[in-house]
Amino acid sequence: MNKVLAKLFYDSVQLAKGWDYKPYLADLERSQWQPIEKRNELQRLKLVKLLRHCADHVPFYRDAFLDIGVKAKDIRDESVLESLPIVTKKTLRENYIRFFSDDQKRPFDVWKTSGSTGEPFAFRLDKNSIAANTYAALARGRRWWGIDYGIREAMVWSCVRDVSDTLLGRMQVLKRQWSWSLKNIRLIDTYSLDHTNVETIYHDLLKFRPECMRSISSGLFRFCVLLDDLGLDGLALGVRYAIYTGEAFPEAQKVLVERVLGCKTICEYGCSEVGIIAFECPKGGLHLNHENLFFEFLKNSDHPTAGQEAEVVVTNLNDYVVPLIRYAVGDVVVPSNETCTCGRTLPLISSVGGRSHAFIKIPGGGVLHGLYFTHLFDGLPSVTQFRVIQEKINELRIELFASEPISSVDKSFVVSSLVKEMGVDCRVVVQQVDDMPLSHSGKFQWIVSKL
Ligand SMILES: [Zn+2]
Repeated sequence: MNKVLAKLFYDSVQLAKGWDYKPYLADLERSQWQPIEKRNELQRLKLVKLLRHCADHVPFYRDAFLDIGVKAKDIRDESVLESLPIVTKKTLRENYIRFFSDDQKRPFDVWKTSGSTGEPFAFRLDKNSIAANTYAALARGRRWWGIDYGIREAMVWSCVRDVSDTLLGRMQVLKRQWSWSLKNIRLIDTYSLDHTNVETIYHDLLKFRPECMRSISSGLFRFCVLLDDLGLDGLALGVRYAIYTGEAFPEAQKVLVERVLGCKTICEYGCSEVGIIAFECPKGGLHLNHENLFFEFLKNSDHPTAGQEAEVVVTNLNDYVVPLIRYAVGDVVVPSNETCTCGRTLPLISSVGGRSHAFIKIPGGGVLHGLYFTHLFDGLPSVTQFRVIQEKINELRIELFASEPISSVDKSFVVSSLVKEMGVDCRVVVQQVDDMPLSHSGKFQWIVSKL
């Protein structure tokens, strides 16, 4: 399909679904260069408008504002935010209906997420939020690299399992595949990625010649490991960029993907509930989606300084149907106060360290976060994937997947580093494994704590 026609088809589908992202994209492309103070001011106006709406129309927040004795007309700036509760995924699930606005004037869609816990969750999204936060912000990030919608794209996604195996379910799959193919997107089901099927997928992609690949990080990594194992030439696919999303991507995995495909990897960070959170620019800056989300970075309810790990908490400025104020998306990031050499004034984070609940308990109290392990294994370039399993407080099993046999020196280094953190009574076992399959959600769970 010609990319201009594919883009036209893409845009017309978005329009038909009520997700016309183009006006929002035009605004985002202007505002990314604006002085940050000007954008902060616009953001503040949007935030006050949303908070007033919540105080009047959303039962959960109406009660929260009552508790602190604040009325809608009293809200003038963001200072009131700190008095409102942090909303976790658990809070949202348990009180979901109370987050619905009783002023149902705006159209919405229902999306499903597999959820990191494996429990599916159907949630409502304001169509304006879908258009602005998801598609416009994604389009802006992609256009930084010249990979607009419509180019030939291979997408590794868990695309088939979420429909039932009935006639209707199979028709839905066919309709989706037909629609994706008109958009110039070739879908690769994450679950079909094994030694048997990857050769067929590879030869199909050789004919399709994708300019870009987009995938959940572990799916992209697995695809490249399989090509490598079978001696299939990834460079021959002609991929210019590989966008990874959904999970943290350890440096060693990035290096392997860039070597196998011979292209740059790009970080797209977001979640279904609030859309794109950050996108990497060609100068390496991971820019926040500053116009659509109000950000707070917290550590134990405190504000850490730039450069420190923090939990990311967002307020979605565009969802009036199920407003999310102070929503803890469940990730640890490192906010930065540096400016990017690309000239865009959108604030930066320096890394996405993975799920905030992905941690190991230390016997004497405290936790080791996922980022610790990412840094630990970055020091062992042959280790491309790892899984840390804690079944007892003083026992850790470390599974390592590596491109070559791991030396006893390297294994001892891992053991001694962890004993230093966990205490001398902790037993650490390091095992090299031949394969690391993905979880049911299509994601890879690299920290498994059963405590
Ligand atoms: Zn930049």
